[in-house]
Amino acid sequence: VFRAYNIERATRSLLQELDPDPSRQGLKDTPARVAKAWHYWTSGHSIAPSEVLTSFEDGAEQVDEMIVQREIPFYSHCEHHLAPFFGTVDIAYVPNGRVIGLSKFKRLVDVFALRLQVQERMTQQIAHALDDALRPKGVGVIVRARHLCMESRGVKTAGTFTVTSCLLNALREGDARAEFLNLASNHRSP
Ligand SMILES: [Zn+2]
Repeated sequence: VFRAYNIERATRSLLQELDPDPSRQGLKDTPARVAKAWHYWTSGHSIAPSEVLTSFEDGAEQVDEMIVQREIPFYSHCEHHLAPFFGTVDIAYVPNGRVIGLSKFKRLVDVFALRLQVQERMTQQIAHALDDALRPKGVGVIVRARHLCMESRGVKTAGTFTVTSCLLNALREGDARAEFLNLASNHRSP
C-alpha cells in the first residue's frame, strides 16, 4: 500500500535539509507533487508480469522466426541514489507456439522499470519474465541506459551509456545469437 502522507512528510524533512529557505512559496506544493510522482515511479510493483503477458495471438503455431522489438524507451530510478536512469530496451524471442502482441513489450518493460532498480537486475527480470510466460526457444534482452547519478556528479562522462544484456537458451549461441546482436546494434544512443 502506497502511503502518500509518509512520502510527503519525508519530503518536508528532506527540504529542511536541502534548502536554506524551505518554507518559500516555490516549495509549498513540492511534498505533494513528490508523493504523486513516486507513486507512479514505483507503480511497477503493483503489476504482475503475468497480467501483462496473458493474451496470446492465434495462428502463431508455425512462427519460428525471431521476433524483435527495438528501442523501447524506459525511465527508471537507481536504488543506490534514487536518481533517474533511462534509455532503451531491445527485446527478442524465438517463439515456441505462442506469441504476444508487440504492444505488450512496453508494458512488460514498465513493470520492472517503474520501481527502484539496478540496470543489470532489470535486464534479467525482463528476460526471465518473458521466458516464464511464453516458454520460447530463446530470449534476448539488451538495455542501454544513461545514469544521472554518475553523469551529474562527474563520475562518468555525460552522454555515455551502460549496456547490459541477458541471452537465454537458443539466443545464447550460434546463428540466433549473431542475428540478435546484429539486429540490436547500430543504435542511436539513448
Ligand atoms: Zn545510482
